[in-house]
Amino acid sequence: MKRSFIREILEAIDEETISFAGGLPNSLLFPVDDLKLSANNILKKRDVWQYSLSNGIKSLRKKIAKQYCNEGFETSAENILITTGSQQALYILARYFQNKSIVLEDPSYLGAINTFKLNDLKMKSAPLENDGIKLKAFEKAYEKSKLSYLIPDFQNPSTRTYSKYKREEVAKIVEKNKGLLIEDSPYTELYFKEKNKSISSLIPDNSFHLGSFSKTLCPSLRIGWIRANKKLIDELLVIKESIDLHSCGLSQHLLNEYLKDDKKYQNHLNILRKYYKEKSEYFCEQLDKYLPEFIYEKPKGGMFVYGEFKDVDSFELLNKCMKKKVVFVPGCEFYVKNKNKNEIRFNFTNSSLEDITKGIKIIAEALKS
Ligand code: PMP
Repeated sequence: MKRSFIREILEAIDEETISFAGGLPNSLLFPVDDLKLSANNILKKRDVWQYSLSNGIKSLRKKIAKQYCNEGFETSAENILITTGSQQALYILARYFQNKSIVLEDPSYLGAINTFKLNDLKMKSAPLENDGIKLKAFEKAYEKSKLSYLIPDFQNPSTRTYSKYKREEVAKIVEKNKGLLIEDSPYTELYFKEKNKSISSLIPDNSFHLGSFSKTLCPSLRIGWIRANKKLIDELLVIKESIDLHSCGLSQHLLNEYLKDDKKYQNHLNILRKYYKEKSEYFCEQLDKYLPEFIYEKPKGGMFVYGEFKDVDSFELLNKCMKKKVVFVPGCEFYVKNKNKNEIRFNFTNSSLEDITKGIKIIAEALKS
């Protein structure tokens, strides 16, 4: 068990470093004034300081359930378990499925890989293609394990998104095998053009759909959730209780107050999508201008640009760039099996336009040297 390489990079850098490494949302877009108003409204109430329900406060679960219903995915408060970020949701599920085997995309989210390792899950993988997981390889591995962890929207790290066809095929495979799917969706709302339909909505009783307010609002609240059928939620609740009794009550009440005005939240999401879209376009323009050797697909949403250099070891490049105070994440960190040494994940959401140009120019110089 290793520590997260990304957190180690983040700890090693100082304020002057241009970081394309962490998956940080842009703090300039946190709706701080509105959150402050919500906080003022709740802090004087005594019950917000009290212990609360392990599955989360009911009015917040109802609001999350309503978001699903608005999209035609029937859900009620009893289908929702509030977690301390979606990272805790992953931990609860890993504990629930301890020692079982699980099929992942290759590459996949490092935080999930580490959590699965810690709980002795046996990880099998299938390659991730531009339009989703490679179906034949997925089906073969899934038939044995009957459990899978996928990130179908703007995946971390690869930013790839499943086509409608692959979503439907994955759902069919899960159903045919009477298995289960963990669908992790922290980036779903950060689309540049249109929202995708979740795989879970096709197989509501065979899936755990994970969501989070970390990327859409702010990560410090540490509020995420699991959507599943009631029987599964009740079983997960036993694990949740033994970890922390319940997620932070203050965060939940604050969020619940903020979400009372749904228009305000929807407006915030629209601002976020527009801003990130422009940022990603600028990042890609600068890559094309100064680093034409970098091969990548333009992101359709999310927070990352992912690609590769031919015949360049991305760790060696990172070492050179770190000395010049620019960091990013080598792609091989995200692989379960086929570690490709040439790949890189860039985060585009958290740097200023000026730093994006400066950072990419420094990488280009390091590459030449
Ligand atoms: N899943 C994925 C795919 C992620 O990228 C992240 C955060 N980087 C998480 C889960 C965890 O997010 P949080 O705990 O902040 O909700």
